Amino acid sequence: MARYVVVGRRKRTAMPRPDFPRTLGEFQVRFSTEDACRRYLRESRWPDGYRCPRCQHAEAYSVARGALLQCRACRYQISVTAGTVMHRTRVPLRDWFWAAYLVTTHTPGFSALQLQRQLGLGRYETAWTMLQKLRRAMIRPERDRITGIVEVDETYLGGVEEGRGGGRRRDSSKSIVVAAVEVRGRGTGRIRLGVVPDVSGQSLVGFVEAAVAPGSTVRTDGWQGYAPLTQRGYDHRPTTQGAPKEAAALFPRIHRVFTHLKTWIWGTHRGVSKKHLPHYLNEFVFRFNRRRTPMAAFQSLLGLTGQHSATTYRGLYDAESTG
Ligand SMILES: [Zn+2]
Repeated sequence: MARYVVVGRRKRTAMPRPDFPRTLGEFQVRFSTEDACRRYLRESRWPDGYRCPRCQHAEAYSVARGALLQCRACRYQISVTAGTVMHRTRVPLRDWFWAAYLVTTHTPGFSALQLQRQLGLGRYETAWTMLQKLRRAMIRPERDRITGIVEVDETYLGGVEEGRGGGRRRDSSKSIVVAAVEVRGRGTGRIRLGVVPDVSGQSLVGFVEAAVAPGSTVRTDGWQGYAPLTQRGYDHRPTTQGAPKEAAALFPRIHRVFTHLKTWIWGTHRGVSKKHLPHYLNEFVFRFNRRRTPMAAFQSLLGLTGQHSATTYRGLYDAESTG
């Protein structure tokens, strides 16, 4: 016997999306049933009240135990999970919500094994597939550039960690990661990360042009690779003083980002291959830039923001900015 619940009578004023639980306990209580998850999906999807995609009617019945909404006028049915990562999967919504929450808020990142244990899933493969889907949602289609005062520096990942010594040698066992970090007073704003093939002006300036809006103030160390930035329309402020090793003191924000990145990659993932590094950088940037807006991160991971397009890998394997 279907339960008929009429939805969509809400007044058509600008309604905010439903709020996000602040704590783990709150999250578990709030999303403890499939019903609660479906309700959240409906509210996220139609924050201004239901509208039939076919006839624009504003009332629908909830059918198939809440999995579908049926238009009261034309009987058109739509799944509450249509267009999201959860669509047509056998995994309960509760588990999806929990996984997205963990991936969004668990700073060091999450392995498939950890997820399997947390959710009590019988099969490792289920956890792995869920994580893959959630990670794909971290590849953002928009690539707006960061602005204002921006620090830019590079670091080496992989192989044996060494100082740069007298110069910037190329070592093929390592990847070169460049970061651009917004300075916000004493704090840190958004970041962009990219992989570059070398530390030439072409590579470094190419990264900056993809990651940072022209007209921004760009702080770098004295490396000549950054010299062309002025010609390219940036207010370039190189710091020429000091040895390369003092870069950590020069750019504390960026070096905190590098430290977190390395801890995450080595600690959680035991290192990452060159081929997959760009994906991990994407994930890191996604989470970092949404660290203060977990609800937005949670919703875009589940595919609730509406903007999420099919996975695009274009640009991931070159030196473009990510996130
Ligand atoms: Zn209709």
